[in-house]
Parts: sequence; C-alpha cells; structure tokens
Amino acid sequence: MGKIDYIHTVQPGTGGIDDAFLNRYVLMSGERMIPYQWSMLNNDEKSGIIHDFRVAAGEIEGEHIGMVFQDEGLFKWLESAAYYVADHPDSPVRAWAQRAIDLAERAQQEDGYLLTWFQLKAPDKEFCNLLESHELVCMGNVLEAGIAWHHATGERQLLDVAIKLADHLCEYFMQDGPAGDLVPGHPGIEFCLVKLYRETGQEKYLKLAQHFLDRRGTDPEVLEKQHEREWDRPPIFPTWNTFADHTYMQIHAPVRQQTTAEGHAVRASYLYAGMADVYMETGDRELFAACETIWKNLTGKRMYITGGVGSSECGERYTGDYDLPNDTVYAESCASVALALFSRRMFQCTGDGKYLDTAERAIYNTVLGSVSLDGQSYFYVNPLEVWPDACEKNPSKRHVRPVRQGWYQVACCPQNTLRTLAGIREYIYYTKGDTLYVGMYVGGDAQISLQDRKIALHVQTGYPFNSTVDIRTDSQGAYTLALRDPGWSEETDVFLNGSRVEDCVREKGMIYIQRRWQKGDTVTLKLDMPARFMVSHPRIRANSGRVCLMKGPLVYCFEEADNGTNLSSLRLNPDAAVAEVYEPDLLGGTLTLSVSGLRIMEEGWDEETLYRPFRVKARKQELRAIPYCLWNNRGQGEMTVWIHSSGSEVS
Ligand SMILES: [Zn+2]
Repeated sequence: MGKIDYIHTVQPGTGGIDDAFLNRYVLMSGERMIPYQWSMLNNDEKSGIIHDFRVAAGEIEGEHIGMVFQDEGLFKWLESAAYYVADHPDSPVRAWAQRAIDLAERAQQEDGYLLTWFQLKAPDKEFCNLLESHELVCMGNVLEAGIAWHHATGERQLLDVAIKLADHLCEYFMQDGPAGDLVPGHPGIEFCLVKLYRETGQEKYLKLAQHFLDRRGTDPEVLEKQHEREWDRPPIFPTWNTFADHTYMQIHAPVRQQTTAEGHAVRASYLYAGMADVYMETGDRELFAACETIWKNLTGKRMYITGGVGSSECGERYTGDYDLPNDTVYAESCASVALALFSRRMFQCTGDGKYLDTAERAIYNTVLGSVSLDGQSYFYVNPLEVWPDACEKNPSKRHVRPVRQGWYQVACCPQNTLRTLAGIREYIYYTKGDTLYVGMYVGGDAQISLQDRKIALHVQTGYPFNSTVDIRTDSQGAYTLALRDPGWSEETDVFLNGSRVEDCVREKGMIYIQRRWQKGDTVTLKLDMPARFMVSHPRIRANSGRVCLMKGPLVYCFEEADNGTNLSSLRLNPDAAVAEVYEPDLLGGTLTLSVSGLRIMEEGWDEETLYRPFRVKARKQELRAIPYCLWNNRGQGEMTVWIHSSGSEVS
C-alpha cells in the first residue's frame, strides 16, 4: 500500500469567477453573507460566539452562551473569509478576520485544547464525553480555517493555532490505554487531519485520521462505556437516547464493513470523505471499496433528486432505501455540503465524472437553495413540497419552515453554505500529471499550475441555462484537457476552433483532448440539456404517479406565486411541450419553464362533503416552473417539485 496517484484540487483564489449564473452567489457570499454572519457572531443574543471566545480568553467575565458546538461558527466563517480575502486583500473583512484569529489564539489553552464550551463549563472533562461533545468535528473546523487563511494570506498565525491543537489531539488519542480506543462521536475531523498532513507533511496527522477510522465500529459501545465511566454530569443533550443509536454515528460496524449510508447524514458523508482521503494517501483499497459501496447505496437509493440527503427529522438521518418523503423531509443543508465534499473526493480517487454530477446536483439545487437572494436568511431543512398551513399546524411538519430564517440556534447550515459558496472554486479545476480537469462549467479566468507551468484558461458560458461552454486557452504547450461529460447529457458535442472533434477519448464521464495547444485555441462543448420530464424509481412511494422537470443539473419547482394555491390539484402530461423562457426581471434573471397542464376543479364540492363517488373535472392551466434553488424568494407560499402526472405512465 502507498499513496495513490490521485487528482488534486486547485486551491481557491487562483482565478476569477465571472459567471452569469454563479456571480450572484459569489458576490452575495462576499458582500452580504460574510458581513451578515460576522454581525451574527458578534451578536450575544443570536449566537454569543465572539462573547464565548472573549470569556475563554479571560477578557470579560461571563457564562458560556450557546451550544457545545457553538465555536464551529467562528472557524467556518474564518475559512470563508480566507477565500474572500484571497481575492480582496484590502477588504475590511481582513481586519475582522484578524480580530477573530487573535481572539482564537488568546482563547487557546497552553496545551493546545480549544473549545470554549468545555473550557468554560467543564474544564476538567475535556474529551470525557465524545458520545455527545462534538469536540473533534469542531476542532476540524479550526484546522480547515488555519489552512485556508495560510493559503489566502501567507500568514501562519491561525495555522499555528491549528497545529498546536492537532498536536494535542495526536498526543491524547494515540496513547495506550482507554483514550487510544476512542473515536469521534461526530466524525468530521478525519478529512481535516488529512488536509493538515498535506499542508505540513507531518505524518502523525494522517496516522491519527487513520487511527480514528481503524478504531471506528470495532467496539460499537466504546463511547457509551466512556460516558458511563467518565461523565458524571447531566447529559449535554437530554433527549439524546431517543435517536442516537449506533448507526446514528456510524459506529455500528467497522468502517470497511459498512455497506449502506446510515445515520445522521452530515456525520455520514464527513466520515466517508475522510475514508476517501485516507485511501488517497495510503492506498488502502478496502477503505475505498467501502466508499464505493456506500456511495452506490446513497445515490442509488437514498438521495432526493435535489441532492438532499437524510429524510428523517428524528436524528437528521438516513432511514431505509427509497424512503424519501417530500413534505416531512429533512435534507439538511449541511448534509448536501457534506455529500458534495464526499463526492468530490471520489472524483479525485477515480477521475469519474459521475461523482462531480452528484456534487453539482447537491450544490446547484440544495446548497444554493438554502440561502435567500439577499444572503440573509437560510433554510436548515430543504423540503421538496411545502404547504405552509400544514407546516404551522401539523407537529410532524413543524421542522419544515415555509420561509428561510434569519438565524438558527444551531447555525451550522448558514455557515456551511457560506463556506461552500465562498470556496466554490475548489469544485471547478483539478490537475494530475499533465492533465487539467474542468469539473464544473463556470465562466471566468483561471491561472492553473500544471507541472512546471501556468495554464491560463478563459471560460465563457451561460450554463446551466444555456448548453454551450467555450473554453479558450491563453497558454501554449502540450497537455491534456479533461472536460466533464455530465451523465444527463446524452450526446455531448465537442468542437475545436469551430470544427467538430471526432477523435477525443470519452471515458467514465470525462472527455479528454490531448494536443499541443496554441494561444487562443478554443474548445466548445455543446451539452445535450433540454428541459426534461423526470420520473423516479417506482419504489419511491412518495413520487408514485408524479413527474418533475429538470434542465441539465437544475431541478425545477412550482410555486404558488406562479401557479395558485393547492399545487396538489395540478396535473402534467409528460408528453407536453416545455417552453424555456429567460426572464431577465424575475428573481435576478432566470430561465423559467412553461408547460400546459391541468387543474382539478373544486366546483361542485361543498363545505360538508369530504368524499364522493368518483367524478373529476379539470381545466387547462399554463404552469410555470422556476429553478428549485430560487424558491421562496417571493414571500411565503406553497411549493412542489413533483407534480401528479395526467399521462399514461405505462408503455
Ligand atoms: Zn446544518
């Protein structure tokens, strides 16, 4: 075993995004979300995060405010700020971030430990309750922020905080005795440790990641036993026992023997991402085989069409195959962020474009849809069907908010969404040897280091509303360009300087063009992406007899604002023609889909009749669908992705 020859991500901050579709999100993340979330970090009533660090640093007196994992907000914000500052070194964000870094450094204990809840509320109980504590996943955020800030500014201060913390973890968890048997209750530090290993070359960080994976599931009760042995206080989460079983935290079996996506959906994909990363560095085929098997189950049987995952509110978790209800859904934003992280790593392991199809599905639908167009309100739960009255009155739907919220007591999702948008470039370009991969089609300029030279690319596209992508190289020389050929594009045409290329290699969702490039050479991709009716696997009960619309990676939805109330009474014939209309004044400019459908009429029903012998009347109605990621930007109202079909499903 040994390191495999894997595909590398190109660090954000190495090129400019100028993309008709993504600009709004990139601009919003920098100009609205970062300042807004900074104000939330400083707001004692909403989060108390800065307050907690100041108390831990001994600057003010006070009690810890907020949840045990509250600190993660500071470090996810710092990671996002790093991506922004890389492009905007003169922005005030840099000074805010510097204040936060100074504060984190002052709050860190001499031994390296850093988590304000334990420092202030249970200083003698650090790492004594890994079942509930979230300590290690939060510490992973410190590592990621330190690395991102170092890349953005060249400054080591936060990286040194991260290293001091990681050294403490290595010392604590790699010792002989009970501490050496422990694993994180919430996985998520494993891939961060691998990142720190890659950053520093210090093998002990990789070894600790490997150690956590090797131990996990060998004794499913190890954390309960620790709780029993070392935690003599009330539980951190009083209702923990009602949902946190062994599958909840993926500790039910050794990781190499796990075959299905189980438990808390964020924990799950963070764990799988760590497994993929450790495979890349060690060549441990068993780990990779488990990742492949789990990935097949996850995307083949347990994922919403929007890339949402984890269908149950209880435990924010996976349930069973094909159990994907649309209206009592969970599909936490963070779970889609985590799925994108896992999928991207699977691409890095294999070069198979299908993994990036899934990352893009999760990001372009659920992650983008989790934030409002003004960047100041967020979904935690991402439903595919909303009836606001029922969300208000039906306790089993109360977790499904019909409108985005300004902040959450547990604010993981706004922060995870921000760092994904601010760092979106990590998904676009990749390199391996003399091959430059374009994994997502995003307009703009990029300077990419490939072996010993710099390649300049200019991408122009109206994707995902438009099917043409132009990629111009402004550098000369021989190398291979690998372009993702999305699974949904049934026939992708490739042109070089206007002439069709017949001899390019097409393999595992990628198109390879190898040549000696001249300055100005332009590759044009024509993707096959008309608006299409989609149907789900017959075993997804919730979607039986229903269809939905997609265009390329975008899932579309129907809103009350366009289609009236009671969307469940609409019917669509999947043979109907779909008109694609770009509407510059709608939702910041968007492509809508219009299709002629039917509405079941209520005439003839009175207040006292709930049921009657079968007799249904319908009238024609023009229906309009908008991209799912843009829903709920026009006030509260009903929304649905899936519509009942009026056509014959059987052929
Ligand atoms: Zn979340």
